[in-house]
Amino acid sequence: MEARFGPAGNAQAFADAGFKATVDAPRWLSTLGLDAYEYQCGRGVNVGEETAAKIGAQAAAHGVAMSIHTPYFINLSSDETVRMEKNAGYVLASCRVAKAMGATRLTVHCGGQGKLSRARALANTSKNLRNILSLMEQEGFGSLTLCLETMGKQSVIGSAEEVCALVAQDDRLLPCIDFGHLNARTQGRYNSREAFAGLFDLMENTIGVARTRVFHSHFSKIEYGEKGEKRHLTFADTVYGPDFAPVAALAAERGYTPTFICESAGTQAADAVTMKQLYEGARQK
Ligand SMILES: [Zn+2]
Repeated sequence: MEARFGPAGNAQAFADAGFKATVDAPRWLSTLGLDAYEYQCGRGVNVGEETAAKIGAQAAAHGVAMSIHTPYFINLSSDETVRMEKNAGYVLASCRVAKAMGATRLTVHCGGQGKLSRARALANTSKNLRNILSLMEQEGFGSLTLCLETMGKQSVIGSAEEVCALVAQDDRLLPCIDFGHLNARTQGRYNSREAFAGLFDLMENTIGVARTRVFHSHFSKIEYGEKGEKRHLTFADTVYGPDFAPVAALAAERGYTPTFICESAGTQAADAVTMKQLYEGARQK
């Protein structure tokens, strides 16, 4: 397996080049040397299976690995039965799209702590995940991987430690390390070689080296305040970070081959190209 790079959704440059339909995205990305694409179902699963299959065929033809971002309104920390049944339904609907698109990975947000204690919210998340994984198995989606995302606000479950502990429970899970989110929720502490080395050590020690090598990730620079994430920026930012260079250097040194999805605001394809260059440059050292 090789590291993969690509954007989340369609970049401004894609629209500027005259494209409207996502079915054209894989070919366009391959001309940039990119080989991953995360399809956005954040606001709901609104794509038909026929369209999804067409996008999947183009992705396969152009060597682009697809992943799906499940709806943002999923909240795995809840213990309300009706809510959890709905959440499971959204994940299964996302799995149907993933199958049609040939995607093997789905990213999912854990959810806010709300009025629950942190321990209770985490216990609920663990239980809800087990339930969703067994439903996926029953519905024929047992080969798909759920990628639990590290989140940008302290009030939301999703520190590196929390995500690794949850992911360690089942082989059908992987972490989606969102470096910008980690940096935002800690007011800039995840922006150095030392911090990233500590993160990778934590991952190896909790989920094992083999799964750490192929982790899923989101990367963008993100503006933050006291409570964490405010908004996604582009690589033009020089204030907030994080920088991708130390991530690329460490991943290359350790022989990791993650999938890196760039979530820059509008420049996600061009910035993914920069990320790929940094990683490949580091591999040649
Ligand atoms: Zn996300």
